[in-house]
Amino acid sequence: MVAQIKDKLGRPIRDLRISVTDRCNFRCDYCMPKEIFGDDYVFLPKDELLTFEEMVRIARVYAELGVKKLRITGGEPLLRRNLYQLIAELNNIDGIEDIGMTTNGLLLKKHGQKLYDAGLRRINVSLDAIDNEVFQAINNRNIKATTILDQIDYAVSIGFHIKVNVVIQKGVNDDQIIPMVDYFKDKDIEIRFIEFMDVGNDNGWDFSKVVTKNEMLDMIEAHFDIEPVPPKYYGEVAKYYRHKDNGAQFGLITSVSASFCSTCTRARLSSDGKFYGCLFSTVEGFDIKSFIRSGVTDDELREQLISLWNIRDDRYSDERTEQTVKNRQRKKINMNYIGG
Ligand code: SF4
Repeated sequence: MVAQIKDKLGRPIRDLRISVTDRCNFRCDYCMPKEIFGDDYVFLPKDELLTFEEMVRIARVYAELGVKKLRITGGEPLLRRNLYQLIAELNNIDGIEDIGMTTNGLLLKKHGQKLYDAGLRRINVSLDAIDNEVFQAINNRNIKATTILDQIDYAVSIGFHIKVNVVIQKGVNDDQIIPMVDYFKDKDIEIRFIEFMDVGNDNGWDFSKVVTKNEMLDMIEAHFDIEPVPPKYYGEVAKYYRHKDNGAQFGLITSVSASFCSTCTRARLSSDGKFYGCLFSTVEGFDIKSFIRSGVTDDELREQLISLWNIRDDRYSDERTEQTVKNRQRKKINMNYIGG
């Protein structure tokens, strides 16, 4: 084990998010708007994607550097063929304590059992509404919320630990907060509401579309008897609350109103094999895929990953203002390459 590495702001590395595909079967406006990702949109060809073998190799070296948690993202990760094989391999890496996946949930019935058998236990499902019409207007693919709720029930029934993530946009789905808290409270499934962020490009973001954590909390407190829950670990991004009657928890993620860059320990591997130190990077990441395909040894790869982390100084959410948002417009990497 290499001595713990730190970035320029003194942050250790603990998490690696691996985007396994840039494709998705939804067209949510804030991530893959249908006007841009239409029928003629060209996704990455197969040889531009990292192979499972390459992902496992990179993850193994990262584990030597202190990474303990892996998260599989996309695009929509369940569109990557034979994903369970990757999970099984990642599960065998020494030092990895936890593997999670973020998905829109549509294909859980199709692939869930194989993923569970391969060792995956934790899944975050992105579900931005519980009302069918509101949800269909968001996903732009006519998928009903009830279809996803069914998939979640199935995943719970085979043993997965599920969390539900909801990105709240003012005037789009803020009326979904109370019915969703109510529904998932009774199921004892953790739901987390995320402040709308200026991720990717062309997502139409501005400050006026953000419902802040305090605004959400006021709404929820007016309907439910709740109390705060202390943080469980360093760098936990959600502030948690508990229903006093049944103990069910929900979280609020203050990505805009109270940023958490100072404890951000996440490295990101994009679907085309590049390293990013931040979800909001505006410069193209170091091309790890080409580097390893040039025939480097594990020692050389380790040195490279260390130096990438050592020079990291990203803290975009800490610095976000109207001006920084404007300056970065159209320059950020799209979310389907890098995961949420
Ligand atoms: S803005 Fe970047 S550095 Fe800050 S928490 Fe988000 S991903 Fe981490």
